[in-house]
Amino acid sequence: MPEQELDLLVIGAGSGGVRAARLAAQRGAKVAIAEVAALGGTCVNLGCIPKKLYSYAAHYAESFDEAHGYGWPVQAPKFEWETLKANRAKEISRLNMTYGAVLEAAGATLVRGRARIVTPNEVEVNGQHFAAKHILVATGGHPTIPEVPGGEHAVSSNEMFDLERFPTRLVVVGGGYIACEMASIFRGLGAQVTQLVRGSRLLRGFDEDIAAFVAVEMEKKGVDVRLATHLQHIEREQSGILRVSLHDGSMLNADTLLYATGRAPNTGGLGLEDLGVKLGLRGEVVVDAHYRSSVPSIYAVGDVIDRVQLTPVALAEAMVVVDQLFGHGRRTMDYDFIPTAVFTHPSIGTVGLTEAEARERHGVVRTYLSEFRSLKHTLSGSAERTLMKLVVDDATDRVVGLHMVGAEAAEIVQGFAVALKAGATKAVFDATIGVHPTAAEEFVTMREPVGS
Ligand code: FAD
Ligand code: NDP
Repeated sequence: MPEQELDLLVIGAGSGGVRAARLAAQRGAKVAIAEVAALGGTCVNLGCIPKKLYSYAAHYAESFDEAHGYGWPVQAPKFEWETLKANRAKEISRLNMTYGAVLEAAGATLVRGRARIVTPNEVEVNGQHFAAKHILVATGGHPTIPEVPGGEHAVSSNEMFDLERFPTRLVVVGGGYIACEMASIFRGLGAQVTQLVRGSRLLRGFDEDIAAFVAVEMEKKGVDVRLATHLQHIEREQSGILRVSLHDGSMLNADTLLYATGRAPNTGGLGLEDLGVKLGLRGEVVVDAHYRSSVPSIYAVGDVIDRVQLTPVALAEAMVVVDQLFGHGRRTMDYDFIPTAVFTHPSIGTVGLTEAEARERHGVVRTYLSEFRSLKHTLSGSAERTLMKLVVDDATDRVVGLHMVGAEAAEIVQGFAVALKAGATKAVFDATIGVHPTAAEEFVTMREPVGS
């Protein structure tokens, strides 16, 4: 029999779950949140945060080299993998505790263990039963590794942050967000990196100019990007070295082989199918525009619904659900103009439509491109270049896409995302005064379209 009566029981204390539990509890709802692993979910423990910390670590390597041109003739010291891992672990533990404190302060009850839904209004965690008016599934996803002979020798992104030994030779399979970021980061940290991409380009879904440009920049930094390349099988030699066979008969040696080939929703073992909760082809919870599943008391947000796998999106979806159930009313989430970044070296920032999407949606578009060496690299000696691109709907003059490869792309694009969301036209961009000398000012000084 249920021991407690709740307004909301959240399953999963990751990005979406913690936001929903905290806000609902702050609004006076009686809330419990179940978590089987560390608080904070993928983003805090195995995603955004450790990834960004390791990206910072990797950038130091080039800073040591670039300092010479500025009068600092320093030699790069030896990189210490153990130090980075230990400091990351310490910071992540601090964040785990902060999440616990935030939930407690809001008045949400944390229940440790794997949750299973037993009836549309009842959840079981470690033999304890909870009755709840509403249940929110925010269980995230997990990395998938396709069937390949010797695939048991491969690791996923989950293992990369804590590898026992630093991989001197790393092979990365995949051309998406995680593959590109990990390839850049481990190359920066000193690994020899080969990236195997099955398609003819990196980062499907991103603007073609951006994807082609970042591939060249990554190669300049030493990542061996191999397009249209397929892995056949993997063997582990007695010495521990991995022998990786490719479709053309060639072989690679590796210390670590990373598969970064996508993620699947965590819906197994939750009891969803038994209750008649409709799942999609990839196992995702199918929800309506208000995140309600086919069972009216059960909602779902974040990676488990497999729409846009980004932390700020999971947070925003969670807030829509809480507003609807406990306060500010029924509304839907707008998925247009979601800015995103890929923390490659150099990084990508993007918001709005790619050129191809804009042509399909709007017909005639104007594009503006600016490619340059940043002021910093005139003295640093680095060959890194920056690319900026605007896509403008010709009929309305509205800027519908803004894309960049270069230092601090994520920080720059976040600001411009507000302008695009607000419907800024190219004329507004032209009337905006630049901040000089910056790279970002290029976005308001491009005047000649390159194509129409
Ligand atoms: P999660 O954060 O995954 O949380 C789900 C939680 O549910 C987990 O803690 C899990 O243990 C728990 N759980 C699952 N099943 C149960 C159960 N039955 N009972 C109890 N608990 C359960 N996004 C960005 O925006 N920016 C980035 O830079 C970025 N980098 C990333 C890098 C990597 C390597 C990865 C893998 C992802 C990255 N992401 C990034 C994506 C981002 O991490 C996810 O989109 C986000 O964490 C999704 O949040 P969520 O709440 O849906 O799920
Ligand atoms: P993605 O979907 O971004 O990329 C998967 C890649 O793997 C694609 O290049 C795909 O190729 C390739 N692939 C798929 N199956 C195979 C296969 N069988 N053999 C070889 N290659 C294959 O997934 P990720 O795992 O990189 O990331 C998951 C999600 O996490 C992202 O979509 C993103 O939403 C989120 N994320 C966000 C980050 C950020 O905000 N900076 C960072 C990291 C993750 P193809 O294109 O040909 O299908």
